[in-house]
Amino acid sequence: MNVTELARQLKTTKEELLEKLPSLGFDIGVRAIKVDNSVAERIKQAWAQGARRQKIKEKMEKQQTASEEKKETESAQKEILIPEKITVNDLAQKLAIEVTYLIGYLMKNGIMATLNEQIDFETASIVAEDYGFKAVKCENRDDSKDRDHEIRAMKKTRAGGKSGKWRAPVVVVMGHVDHGKTTLLDAIRKTNVVEGESGGITQHIGAYQVEEKDRLITFLDTPGHEAFKAMRERGGQVADVAILIVAADDGLKPQTFESINVIQKEGLPFVVAINKIDKSDADIDMVKKELAEINLNPEDWGGKTICVPISAKQGKNINELLDMVLLVSDLEKFTADPEKPSCGIIIESHIDKGEGPVATVLVHEGTLRVGDEVVIGNTYGKIKALKDWKGEDVKQAIPSTPVKILGLKSAPKVGDILKVEQIDRAHRKKLSKNYRLIDTLAHDVSTSHAGAEDDKQADKEKETENRLSIVVKADALGSLEALIASIKKLEKKNVSIAILKQGLGNITESDLTLAQDAKAIVYGFNVQLSQEARKMSYERTVDIKISKIIYEILEDIEKRVKSFVKIEIIEVKQGDLLVLKVFKDSRDESIIGCRVKQAPVSNNAKFRLMRDSEPIDEGEIIEIQKNKQKVEKAEEGAECGIKVKGVRGFKEEDILSCFSEEEKEV
Ligand code: GDP
Repeated sequence: MNVTELARQLKTTKEELLEKLPSLGFDIGVRAIKVDNSVAERIKQAWAQGARRQKIKEKMEKQQTASEEKKETESAQKEILIPEKITVNDLAQKLAIEVTYLIGYLMKNGIMATLNEQIDFETASIVAEDYGFKAVKCENRDDSKDRDHEIRAMKKTRAGGKSGKWRAPVVVVMGHVDHGKTTLLDAIRKTNVVEGESGGITQHIGAYQVEEKDRLITFLDTPGHEAFKAMRERGGQVADVAILIVAADDGLKPQTFESINVIQKEGLPFVVAINKIDKSDADIDMVKKELAEINLNPEDWGGKTICVPISAKQGKNINELLDMVLLVSDLEKFTADPEKPSCGIIIESHIDKGEGPVATVLVHEGTLRVGDEVVIGNTYGKIKALKDWKGEDVKQAIPSTPVKILGLKSAPKVGDILKVEQIDRAHRKKLSKNYRLIDTLAHDVSTSHAGAEDDKQADKEKETENRLSIVVKADALGSLEALIASIKKLEKKNVSIAILKQGLGNITESDLTLAQDAKAIVYGFNVQLSQEARKMSYERTVDIKISKIIYEILEDIEKRVKSFVKIEIIEVKQGDLLVLKVFKDSRDESIIGCRVKQAPVSNNAKFRLMRDSEPIDEGEIIEIQKNKQKVEKAEEGAECGIKVKGVRGFKEEDILSCFSEEEKEV
């Protein structure tokens, strides 16, 4: 056969063919023009085998680089800061795992710790490592801890005794999702508000007040979703009394236990509202039994836990429930001094287009008045107006009253403490610096990372990777904070989420323009499209998702993040087999006697046939036999018979280097 023709059949050039032939064992000379047909056939076989070996070598090299990279990333684990002592709850939050999993994990390892129990750094760092983090000890308390501490300190100093005057109890409704918190809060509002007082329109300011038996009760109106856990906890700190709502058709559920933990941690008196008694499958006794099982014995069973069966939907027994709330409040004698310098806690905060920064404060002590100068966390202002929850202007607010305040320089954080205080110039200057930073965040122009240089750098590095760009708008600062915190947890190693803009209020024209230019998705929680934006959205191709359910937003983001994840097959090394005897040699099925040089070798493993340390071919083990019995694994030193496919041409002393293949997210 002509050498040029042979080269064509082998899809190479004549020059390359002549150059490579000696390495395949054919010495036909560099000037050869023709070769014998039988030699040509042998060259073809050897060429195909050579090409196959080359491919295997390249694959091996690729696998080696991948496993080195894997080792590198493993050693560069994500670091988290953990103090000398940390509660189980806080650790779960840092590791972004469900606290119930963590409690279960600790139990399995012999540590019985509840939600609020502290574990030491050593234990926490072992747990962190198992979850893929590297624990680094830190000294600093975090910001929210400081606020918790401040709130507790403030609560303790509330005036009692002679100077204290009776004040309305502050009540929080807690319980599992869908057990009826929102319905109950609505029912209470409807039952006890004098019709027509506010034209039927009420404002959502984070709390409202109702009258029962000529006495006021303040209700905290916090959203009930899982992502608002932090806010619920703050509710627990702010409140005097809790209503624990349990659906009679569902019983005690994870968030019921979580709420009980908050109630017990804060030492709150509470009343259990057994809800949905109108349902045919309601079982009040089942709820009472479950309560008794955790030492909350119902009153009518001889215990101390007050239970009121209600139907929030039908407005049944709502007044009885409120009477019980007043009863437990009377036992505690909630008082405060309206004459003292005023202070309070921020329970809601946002920027209003017309009114600027607005916040709801729950007055704790003293009387807050229009014209008062106030300092709240990093912001300050002079109160221009006070509005009650019905939206009516009031001149002053006494303890336990929720009021919306206008006149602040920027929106404070939920949980911040308000103090009536005249501030000097130096203090004002210092605060101004801070509020500018916060303003930027609340006024929609910041990135998700609040301007930290390190983070910007990290963002740049991530730019080349997979990135989901989003714009997030929410109705209130508390919801926005909770949503952003949940979104950040959805990031994956190689998929980042860039929050190009986050802010309060409706989705505007500029949000859509930004999203369009940056190919970002716009998410709105409890907001709408502004009129202008509504017109634009028809013309533009911006993906907008608006929802009142936080899960829906998170689910959508998670789905998009997952779509970026690519799967790569990686090799996991198993042991080696030494070929002792070849009984049958065929590509479809060979039968070989082997010795296990190195374990493990499992059935269905892939193998690379190695001869003189060179890879020859690749195949798969389809059966392992020991003493004529099929086995799943062969242990080290054992002799066994194997059936393989995909390779022929085995020789004694060959090594089958075994491996399995796994999928890995890249
Ligand atoms: P939340 O998640 O705890 O705020 O629960 P919701 O107040 O949103 O209530 C969840 C669902 O239970 C809604 O469909 C309500 O209509 C329903 N629901 C609430 N209270 C009752 C009740 O007393 N009886 C019945 N049958 N359904 C109720």
